[in-house]
Amino acid sequence: MHVKLSYFRKYVNAYYNSAFGTPLTDCCSTCLRTKEQLKIATSLDVRQKLLTEHRVHIAKAKAFFGLLKTKLNTSYFSFDCQKNLALPRLPNQAAYFSQQINYNNFTVVAGTSRDKLTPRNVFSYLWTEIDSRKDSNTIASALNHTLKSFDFDPSIETVRLFADGCGGQNKNTNMMAMLAYWLLEESPKHIRQIELIFPIVGHSFIPPDRVFGLIEKDIKKISVIVEVSGYDDLIRKHSTIRKIGIDWDLFDWRTQTKRAIKLPSSWHFEFNKAKRFIFYKKEKNVLIQGEPNYCTDVGKASSVCKKNFSLSSMAPKKLTLGKGLRGGIKALLTTFFPNTTEKIGEVFLNYTFTKSSSKKVMPHQKKTLMRTVAKMSRMIPFFCEH
Ligand SMILES: [Zn+2]
Repeated sequence: MHVKLSYFRKYVNAYYNSAFGTPLTDCCSTCLRTKEQLKIATSLDVRQKLLTEHRVHIAKAKAFFGLLKTKLNTSYFSFDCQKNLALPRLPNQAAYFSQQINYNNFTVVAGTSRDKLTPRNVFSYLWTEIDSRKDSNTIASALNHTLKSFDFDPSIETVRLFADGCGGQNKNTNMMAMLAYWLLEESPKHIRQIELIFPIVGHSFIPPDRVFGLIEKDIKKISVIVEVSGYDDLIRKHSTIRKIGIDWDLFDWRTQTKRAIKLPSSWHFEFNKAKRFIFYKKEKNVLIQGEPNYCTDVGKASSVCKKNFSLSSMAPKKLTLGKGLRGGIKALLTTFFPNTTEKIGEVFLNYTFTKSSSKKVMPHQKKTLMRTVAKMSRMIPFFCEH
């Protein structure tokens, strides 16, 4: 029996036509909640109220996109983390590997959503979870590197930054302290102001998301990736890759922030409600203003330094890589391979740890340790690469 392709297409379209990818607005929890409430609302008043609230919500989301449009003497950057890239990537991972290592990609795009994405204006900061955790310290270090190494035009007075506000990676005091420090101490003279803007979660689609989409499309074509270089080659097609320990370093912003900056609860505005943070460069300090709306300014700019502490006194120390793993495991490994020439232990230790501890290994700890070593052994190609 001869069946044409068109027959199948018709059949599939008729019976299995499931749509892939949902519209962005569906990802927003506020929108979803409103939709559900509207379904059950019977009273006209309630419906009217819900619809009005929804209209305001959408208007707010749109106001955010207005800020993405170009303004004179302003440089634009947007940044976000890609979802974890698993190593090794295999077609049947579960069967062979119980544990995987995450490779992290924090991408910064210079320019607005109208600019073309090229490796000239897209920068991907890459590190494994062994190098460092995906935390505010690492993100602040990477973004600080972008700002420090970026070649600003002398006409630029304002730097506008856009970031996804969900999770603790982008919206935290370490990030704010780093930006304030950069503005005061490291930025070119002509830059006077920073605006850090967080879109309404679920309504944002900032340039890094486009980059991640392109990278993920390429990853899908490849079924096996066993080394970081496998990912690097794919990411390099879309951006300038910056590898930790080679192109950029990890700095301890956290300790300095704790020392010099007030806790967010005692800031002069509600930290969590703020959608825009505006930083003004003054003679010896940076004043910060927080705004809950995108278009109206009602707040006051003020210092967030602790009494008797100044921003310029912040001097974050460079951190050694390999602190991504918990301290216990680190101590165990040091004990387990004190002077061994065994390849795994040696490579692992040389790369990550200093040989110092002399704690005894308890039997139950040995199990954890062996599991970790098994995990580490698969990382050898990555260690050697550095
Ligand atoms: Zn929404």
